[in-house]
Amino acid sequence: MQLIFLGTGTSQGIPMIGCQCAVCRSRDPHDRRMRASAAVRLAGGQTLLIDTSPELRVCALAAGLERVDAVLYTHSHADHVMGLDDLRSYNQRQDAILPCFGDARTVAMLRRAFGYAEVPPGGQRPPDRPGVTFHEITGPFELFGQTIMPVPLLHASTGSLGYRIGRLAYCTDCSGIPDSSFELLSGLDTLVLGMLRRRPHPAHMSLDQALAAADRIGARRTFFIHMSHDMPHEATNRQLPPNRQLAYDGQVVEIADADG
Ligand SMILES: [Zn+2]
Ligand SMILES: [Zn+2]
Ligand SMILES: [Zn+2]
Repeated sequence: MQLIFLGTGTSQGIPMIGCQCAVCRSRDPHDRRMRASAAVRLAGGQTLLIDTSPELRVCALAAGLERVDAVLYTHSHADHVMGLDDLRSYNQRQDAILPCFGDARTVAMLRRAFGYAEVPPGGQRPPDRPGVTFHEITGPFELFGQTIMPVPLLHASTGSLGYRIGRLAYCTDCSGIPDSSFELLSGLDTLVLGMLRRRPHPAHMSLDQALAAADRIGARRTFFIHMSHDMPHEATNRQLPPNRQLAYDGQVVEIADADG
């Protein structure tokens, strides 16, 4: 199984419009961060997309992402959903309707914003629009022979869902992890965890909070995502242990998948 980081930035992206700070003006390509999303290539060859950021098209072109078989949504904030229309390219390439999964609140928001893309049961793929089905999830489910485990997280007023897929877990926007969710995160090879900056924030973990959560979860390695412009890539990573690092856009990691 393979994970591709499509975007690793916070909701405004890095560089931020009009900002003259050192990170926003940096020439290090690792300091350019699109809004957060990722792709997971399953052992069977199918590709799951996690979130459809406003930069889905740009990120998919950069990463050479030529196939998407389903979408897992973490929550309904704009930086995680607004690229849904770009799924149209995959509908056309694969002549397929794409299933999209999220909690009830997220599915309701997707229907409000992208109701034109929903194909009714038994319906045909529309030729000139995206074609998706929305699925409300309340617990673990099977997709392409793989168990997908939603992991409830604390985030703003909405909450968000992390996803555990085999020995990978992707937990973006969160201010905290409930005890019952820590239990779902044992025995991981790779943890992806949202971490905004060093200073506290009401809706996101700070670096200290994220490091403490990563220690408690104890994955073999942890990658941080959803960083603000307060976090220079290279300087921050130099100060962190080698198995606790900021991810960057376009990074590809292989997941050791002993328990399937
Ligand atoms: Zn976000
Ligand atoms: Zn800046
Ligand atoms: Zn959010």
